[in-house]
Amino acid sequence: MSKETTYIYESPDGGRTIYRREFGESERKQIKPHRDRWHGEEKKYWTCHICKKSTMETEYDYLAAHNLHLECALKAELKEMKATEKKCPYCEAGL
Ligand SMILES: [Zn+2]
Repeated sequence: MSKETTYIYESPDGGRTIYRREFGESERKQIKPHRDRWHGEEKKYWTCHICKKSTMETEYDYLAAHNLHLECALKAELKEMKATEKKCPYCEAGL
């Protein structure tokens, strides 16, 4: 017996954000519109502002935002942490 999955597509904002959920399931997953339809502003929209690479190909699970890879966000956070570590551990004065 083959079981075909039926997906339900929902877009609360007219196509910019699209959610897909399996028929009968309540959990929905955000997906991206087909990339062939993206150009100009939309391409810019889907570009990571840290590494300047496209986020179009990246799964939502690996994105912190539409313009930010999760990996880049974590790296940026680490950098920030290191920057704030430049303090004297004894007197808390900046070095
Ligand atoms: Zn990135």
